[in-house]
Amino acid sequence: RDLAAVDDRVSGCRACPRLVAWREEVAEVKRAAFRDQVYWGRPVTGMGPADARIAVVGLAPAAHGGNRTGRIFTGDRSGDWIFAALWRAGLANQPTSVSRDDGLQVNDVRIVSAVRCAPPDNAPTPAERDTCSPWLARELQLLPRLRVAVVLGGFGWSALLPVLAAAGYALPRPRPRFGHGVEVELAGPGGPLTLLGSYHVSQQNTFTGRLTEPMLDAVLQRAVSLAAG
Ligand code: SF4
Repeated sequence: RDLAAVDDRVSGCRACPRLVAWREEVAEVKRAAFRDQVYWGRPVTGMGPADARIAVVGLAPAAHGGNRTGRIFTGDRSGDWIFAALWRAGLANQPTSVSRDDGLQVNDVRIVSAVRCAPPDNAPTPAERDTCSPWLARELQLLPRLRVAVVLGGFGWSALLPVLAAAGYALPRPRPRFGHGVEVELAGPGGPLTLLGSYHVSQQNTFTGRLTEPMLDAVLQRAVSLAAG
């Protein structure tokens, strides 16, 4: 199977009843500013080429962002942050991301989320994370050149580590804890993989200054450097 086939299958997934209900309710009710738009209202797939050496692992689609536009991180403030940063790092062809047909392309990076359906209050449950993790595992298996994973936030970290362990990566004991700037190199079946932790690009971090543009840029520059090395 290739990434396109997995994307096709995941976009029809209905395995989490609470999330299916929420993603579809939001798509029906809409936000006033977007009332003329047709919401996606389905699982949101990853974005980026199969030869990517870098993965960016997020949390879940936003109700009126990815769940509206149908493209990961597209159409909300979090997306504004991450795509501008990817552009500054040379990993995207433009700094903005507004719709599925806006011409945006990313290179050498695959952007994925731990959970593929928008959750209420941006908060999936651990059970929903675990239900969605086979999709994450399949997606990562289909990135043969992967060398670096930039993990945005502790939830993505908690989703990714078990997936990597099951895939044969050697995790230190105790398992490394998430933190901004944390860097962990793992030996794996296809070669080494370095995990880089970053605070999530959510507004509660970017509005408060907990995560600044220079902080995010530094993580992505490190990722680019490791991928090239
Ligand atoms: Fe399926 Fe993942 Fe959506 Fe749950 S969150 S319904 S597992 S795509």
